[in-house]
Amino acid sequence: MIGLMQDWPLLCHKILDYAAIQHGGREIVSRSVEGPIVRTTYAQARARALKVAQRLERAGFSEGDRIATMAWNTANHLEAWYGINGIGAVYHTLNPRLFPEQIAWIMNHAEDKALFVDLTFLPLAEKIVPQVPTIRQVVVFTDAAHMPQTSLANAIAYEEWLKEADGDFAWKTLDENAACGMCYTSGTTGDPKGVVYSHRSNVLHALIASTPNAMGISARDVVMPVVPMFHANAWGLAQSAPMVGSKLVMPGGRMDGEAIWELLDGEKVSFTAAVPTVWLMLLQYLEQTGKALPHLKRVVIGGSACPRAMTEKFEKNYDVEVVHAWGMTEMSPLGSLCTMKPDYAGLTGEARLDIAQKQGFAPFGVEMKVTDDDDVEHPWDGRTFGRLKVRGPAVARAYYGGAGADQFDEDGWFDTGDVAHIDPHGYMQITDRAKDVIKSGGEWISTIDLENLAVGHPDVAEAAAIGIAHPKWDERPLLVVVRKEGRQTTKEELLEFFAGKIAKWWMPDDVVFVDQIPHTATGKIQKTTLRDQFRDYRLPTA
Ligand code: ADP
Repeated sequence: MIGLMQDWPLLCHKILDYAAIQHGGREIVSRSVEGPIVRTTYAQARARALKVAQRLERAGFSEGDRIATMAWNTANHLEAWYGINGIGAVYHTLNPRLFPEQIAWIMNHAEDKALFVDLTFLPLAEKIVPQVPTIRQVVVFTDAAHMPQTSLANAIAYEEWLKEADGDFAWKTLDENAACGMCYTSGTTGDPKGVVYSHRSNVLHALIASTPNAMGISARDVVMPVVPMFHANAWGLAQSAPMVGSKLVMPGGRMDGEAIWELLDGEKVSFTAAVPTVWLMLLQYLEQTGKALPHLKRVVIGGSACPRAMTEKFEKNYDVEVVHAWGMTEMSPLGSLCTMKPDYAGLTGEARLDIAQKQGFAPFGVEMKVTDDDDVEHPWDGRTFGRLKVRGPAVARAYYGGAGADQFDEDGWFDTGDVAHIDPHGYMQITDRAKDVIKSGGEWISTIDLENLAVGHPDVAEAAAIGIAHPKWDERPLLVVVRKEGRQTTKEELLEFFAGKIAKWWMPDDVVFVDQIPHTATGKIQKTTLRDQFRDYRLPTA
């Protein structure tokens, strides 16, 4: 027997329709690339997105075409995503922090047909676009007055381009399984791999993301996605904020502590999200200036492990709730969030911090398991770690073009490449990336635990643990440390600080101090480069 309910395809542009109808006057505030703060509303954003769609169609673009964007978080970028989706085309976000050759490789792999680009990245586009023969049109997010000279023959200012459309356009009706977005993973090993979101997966992800156990945002919130739209689908906020009618604050290209604080304070932001590096800059700025965060209620921190000291500072000094989250591009990207179930809700102090360090539990729509190398499931005991596998309606079932097929099994489980354990209440904790874990005498040492502990020391700015070859134990940990400016802590002091906090056999065999640690295009520690750098390092214990 078939249900008798309506077939209402889950399409992304319906989210913007809804926002315009029910929350039409709600603001989208952007720090523009030209400088000034620009204010628009959901109703206006929808009107302009319709023009984008109409203009794209007139220029001959159609369903399934990949349209690249290389831009900061602004209302322009947001309306372009919806306009692209409105004709059934696919927004393809490019991370400008990658090397130009890598970006060109990705664009050629995706066969992008057009590019929307911010002024900031026009010089970069001038280098790349000539290497991508499929690109027919470059639209620069600016107006005629700010449009610079460019070597790109097919470039036009966004506002000029939009002028040729009146917005009298109807969205295309599509199959909800049609592709709507594309994002390549950074590819720290091998070539980048393309993840292809569908309208259905993005809509379901936005519904899941906004529930109270997850991000818990509503029409009463002022949401600032600091996480860029070019990193892992902006953690779904470009869909979930309009879906619930939150006011949106788009920080543009400035991520320094002062710029972020100005928007948090001036726009009364209640909810924000980004990687730990951004919050490190903000907390430093607050400490230097004595400023506070009177409006901010919740901050979601993920992308890499949130250090305990960061959670403690936000909660103790600024009365802001930290929600630690884990996810990946392949998961749209949310996989788990550390909000409190009743079992943990009453905890305070150190006991609460112990839980807040975990990456949290999976919301509805994410199935999770931890297995050994032979796919035998580990118990949820909060100790036994292994390969973290997931499945769900917003999890990739393949990469574009069939790359990385060995990460997907016949039962639909996707091997995340992360190593984790799950506790009896369902709280997952990442201990490592599978390729970063240190294998000592057949047992695994978590580099994340060592790093978190190290940055808890008052003199340490950043730390990375890597495995160094050892004749007896196979590998032993080396801790690479960047000291805070003007601080002089020693190896002995650090190891003393570690004593009693971890198992003896986890103690680093050596500590080296460096001026800086290499980072990836998404702000994570680049372990591959670091391992290369220390390839010939001999441990004193070897
Ligand atoms: P990229 O690898 O391109 O930076 P992703 O955002 O897809 O992009 O990276 C996902 C990976 O980031 C995860 O597989 C995991 O290793 C790591 N990660 C994400 N969130 C956390 C977290 N809260 N703690 C530890 N690692 C995390």
